[in-house]
Amino acid sequence: AVALMALSGCSTRAPDSAGAGTTESGFPADSVIGVALPSKTSENWVLAGGLFEDGLAEAGFEADVQYAGASTTVKDQQDQISAMITNGAKAIIIGAQDGAQLGTQVKDAHDAGAIVIAYDRLILNTDNVDYYVAFDNFKVGQLQGQALLDGLAAKKPEGPYNIELFSGNSADANAPVFFNGAMDVLQPKIDDGTLVVASGQTDIKQTATADWKAENAQSRMDSLLTSTYGDKEIDGVLSPNDTLARAIITSVKAAGKPIPVVTGQDSEVESVKSIMAGEQYSTINKDTRLLVTQAIDMVKALQVGDTPETNDDSYDNGNKIVPAYLIPPVIVTKANAAEAYADDPKLAPLTE
Ligand code: BGC
Repeated sequence: AVALMALSGCSTRAPDSAGAGTTESGFPADSVIGVALPSKTSENWVLAGGLFEDGLAEAGFEADVQYAGASTTVKDQQDQISAMITNGAKAIIIGAQDGAQLGTQVKDAHDAGAIVIAYDRLILNTDNVDYYVAFDNFKVGQLQGQALLDGLAAKKPEGPYNIELFSGNSADANAPVFFNGAMDVLQPKIDDGTLVVASGQTDIKQTATADWKAENAQSRMDSLLTSTYGDKEIDGVLSPNDTLARAIITSVKAAGKPIPVVTGQDSEVESVKSIMAGEQYSTINKDTRLLVTQAIDMVKALQVGDTPETNDDSYDNGNKIVPAYLIPPVIVTKANAAEAYADDPKLAPLTE
């Protein structure tokens, strides 16, 4: 229910369609399955594409995996989804570039009899999304907020601590959910004076990072350091993901300041290295292998005419509750990295 409240502009309509997709009569085992991914703003998206290609092919489907390009991203993705419909895709898995701008395409998909699965990012303000598979985004934010508090307490025993807040791209439905999850933990500590957002920039609009781009986080951090931290230290930064965390650390280093406690998300290789080196404080493990497997399992169930397994009915997209399968995210710091990545052949060696 927390995730529901976290989405801006959501209504609380009865979940009349929870658990039920549009078509559950099944489809041929060798059908085209479309996978429309956003631009490659973090390593997880790069990984997901390859895993979908392999996993869908292994399951006997014909995979059509596309990424939105680096510019004109929204239109790219709209066109890619339209092409998948023309290709006769029976299910379309979408990591939305802009959660609010796919209404026409998902309606066309439904009209053509395809099932729509929102992957990682919810698709907003439409009835035409059948399922959602994601990590628990609100929980991600809460874990980030708690990690920031823990890191600060480990650094110096008492506040007040000077911090700054960053959030993600506003067109990504996840961005406000991450931010609201973090603020759920941080706001009481801002209210009681333990945390001081020295710039005064606490509104999600002020903290947003356009397009999830590192350069945008870095330049905002540069400005904050100049405007606010000429004569004081910055103790902590809430960063919504690893790419932005590293950009923030780069900015602080360039200004010749000690590195604050910086949070992250995604367990990107360079961030895991940074954590082991004692620079970035935390990340979140959202194992892309698990998420892709879950999405493919949904498609397999739908193919034989079954209703896929869901475990959450708190994600309201503004039009309906979208039946969701949520996977729990795991917080990672230097202290538990070896344990957290033990079964990840790419990350485990970095923690030795
Ligand atoms: C994903 C994050 C990722 C961000 C930028 C979000 O929607 O959930 O894992 O860091 O997009 O790519």
